[in-house]
Amino acid sequence: MRKPFIAGNWKMHKTINEATDYGELFVQKLKDEQVDFSKVDVALFVPYIHMSALKVIFLLRGIDVGAQNMFYEEKGAFTGEISPTMLSDLGIERVIIGHSERRKYFGETSAACAKKLNAAYTHDIKPVLCVGEDLKDREAGRHKDAVRTMLLESFEGIHAEEAEFAAVAYEPLWAIGTGKTATPEQAEEMTALIRSVLAEKYGSAVADNIIIQYGGSVNEENIAELMAKEDIDGALVGGASLDAAKFAKIVAFDDSVRKDSLKQVSVKNILKK
Ligand code: PEP
Repeated sequence: MRKPFIAGNWKMHKTINEATDYGELFVQKLKDEQVDFSKVDVALFVPYIHMSALKVIFLLRGIDVGAQNMFYEEKGAFTGEISPTMLSDLGIERVIIGHSERRKYFGETSAACAKKLNAAYTHDIKPVLCVGEDLKDREAGRHKDAVRTMLLESFEGIHAEEAEFAAVAYEPLWAIGTGKTATPEQAEEMTALIRSVLAEKYGSAVADNIIIQYGGSVNEENIAELMAKEDIDGALVGGASLDAAKFAKIVAFDDSVRKDSLKQVSVKNILKK
């Protein structure tokens, strides 16, 4: 069974004081919400400068600290970049790769994502690969092809035993930071497509183990409905993760909905046989 994975992406937000205040409050809020860490993996993807301080605050508290990006080279004349070696030296075990804002504002291609995935695996850093169509592709009915292409290009050269440790975040661009969430049905259609593309490439045993998140205006109101869907194993949360109390509520989503849905899935599978 796939363990739900709820992650926050702070993007370019918070000063060091704001980050440490948040860290302490978040630990408290998760306690208040009685979050059971055996049932959910939690991570915060923060700016590089906050990683050390937050790692100390979250030590033994069940919250991972991750990077929002990294370069694929080990070292060299790449001004302004951070290498996988530097991240693992800091004890960072997760990284977001190919976020739509990296692709849009910094020209990151799926070919570069493939190199980054490869570098992440070399350093035992678990990647969250982001894929998602823009509004033009969605309106033209090309969203499935667009996501399929991004996925296959980004996983180019990645082996099955590595792919199993990836998470994929389906993030339709038209839903990021817009307040417009994909409906749970739209999100499920695309996360199921992602799983089937991964199954074609790696086989269903591997694809069944890959965590697929939904991202795009997730909040404490819509999380349970999204998590009830069969192929949605978690969420990548931008705006709503900036508020410790709100994000703790998202992490503490009502997982009874998910269990019910898993039961329905097995009933559906039994009926199919
Ligand atoms: C994101 O940054 O990955 C994201 C999904 O942002 P938001 O939740 O604000 O839409």
